[in-house]
Amino acid sequence: MNQPSQHELPSYLNPNELGPWGIYLEQVERVTPYLGKLGKWVETLKRPKRILTVDVPVELDNGTIAHFEGYRVQHNLSRGPGKGGVRYHQDVTLSEVMALSAWMSVKCAAVNVPFGGAKGGIRIDPRQYSERELERVTRRYITEIGMIIGPDKDIPAPDVNTNAQTMAWMVDTYSMNTGQLSTGVVTGKPLSLGGSLGRVEATGRGVFTVGVEAAKDAGLDLQGARVIVQGCGNVGGIAAKLFHEAGAKVIALQDHTATLYQDQGLDIPTILSQYHPKDGLAAHTQAGECLQADEFWALDCDILIPAALENQITAANADKIRAKIVIEGANGPTTPEADDILTQNGITVVPDVIANAGGVTVSYFEWAQNFSSYFWEEALINERLGRMMRDAYHATAAVAKTHNVTLRTAAFISACTRILEARDLRGLYP
Ligand code: GLU
Repeated sequence: MNQPSQHELPSYLNPNELGPWGIYLEQVERVTPYLGKLGKWVETLKRPKRILTVDVPVELDNGTIAHFEGYRVQHNLSRGPGKGGVRYHQDVTLSEVMALSAWMSVKCAAVNVPFGGAKGGIRIDPRQYSERELERVTRRYITEIGMIIGPDKDIPAPDVNTNAQTMAWMVDTYSMNTGQLSTGVVTGKPLSLGGSLGRVEATGRGVFTVGVEAAKDAGLDLQGARVIVQGCGNVGGIAAKLFHEAGAKVIALQDHTATLYQDQGLDIPTILSQYHPKDGLAAHTQAGECLQADEFWALDCDILIPAALENQITAANADKIRAKIVIEGANGPTTPEADDILTQNGITVVPDVIANAGGVTVSYFEWAQNFSSYFWEEALINERLGRMMRDAYHATAAVAKTHNVTLRTAAFISACTRILEARDLRGLYP
């Protein structure tokens, strides 16, 4: 990537090891020529508004004390309160949480939900800890970041390795600390605690919805289309299920434990009904042939859905990819170099900030339902989600056509314009 000039880099970052934040900066570089007069504000996108690093000390079940590093980054709050999940992973870094928070700003603006971008993370391998230990970690983390979150300030949600139960502990902790029940402080809650119908499936459903539109644009019939999916969680798993139901053949599924392949299409409903994240696909090797992890990328397919972690499609494997369409269920799965290779090879990439925005879109519905204490039916939620996803996809495709740019740059053009318009109208205080 182009080396950002020193004055553009905050002192806490190592310019030689920018990690995911470096990928995001490169994406902003690419959008800058299209910002017109708003370009004077572009620097604002290159600096998170607020970063909080916290120590999370907890007593383990064996009586010893462990310390974990936690983060909450608010990238941009010009368009609304911060919004974004909290990730529990042993490899979480500040650079990663910064990039994920920035992608939330872009994502919320790209689909036009009234939020800014934020993200949280704890550097912990949740598989090594008991449920009670994870509850204590969650409660202490929320207490530590309590001064910057709230239903009008910044609203966490699930992300990698967090779920509705984690959100329930967050609501309880925040509410006990503030002295009143605040269901609107997080989204992705259990239904019996102010959660929304359709939220668990929303991200995967959004991936499928934009996939249908992108397939139409590419003249690809979904009946019998060959789909490969990386990730078996609530994004990859649900997307695989919906493509399977639509008549596509999901020929490969990969997670951190195994890569399963079946040329006639895997039996997705059976695999998913018996899938446990702790055991992974390694417990399902009877469902198909087991491939080496690297072989996944070179499979002959029509649609590739990376739905796990960032940095998966890189200059090292992009040239092997034979899909016609890549739909980014994960955040940041493709590096800018890989983006260029895929474009040169005529592969359409539906970028994360559109493709996986279904989750935050239904989070927006959940938040709105919490404020009005009036809950919607699932059919209405799915209809509104479908409409917002299709509108965002087609608006992005139109911008891509106008400027002759990729869908990613187009999504960044619309989103960054919305963010910086708000910035410009609000002006600087003082
Ligand atoms: N973690 C999800 C994402 O990356 C959802 C965020 C939210 O609902 O706030 O989009």
